[in-house]
Amino acid sequence: MKQFACGDVVPGCARTFTAPDDDGVLAAVAVHARDDHGLAAVPAPLVAQVRASIRTAA
Ligand SMILES: [Zn+2]
Repeated sequence: MKQFACGDVVPGCARTFTAPDDDGVLAAVAVHARDDHGLAAVPAPLVAQVRASIRTAA
């Protein structure tokens, strides 16, 4: 499983995500970014930051 903590990219956000792969994490992050951070779309540099912050969980 892959894990991502939004707080790694957006200071102060406590939301975390777990998905079977990077793309699953990114899909969930995109919804969260839209609903909770007001981002209509996740810009490419932010996607790169998210990918770099995704960790592999047991
Ligand atoms: Zn967040």
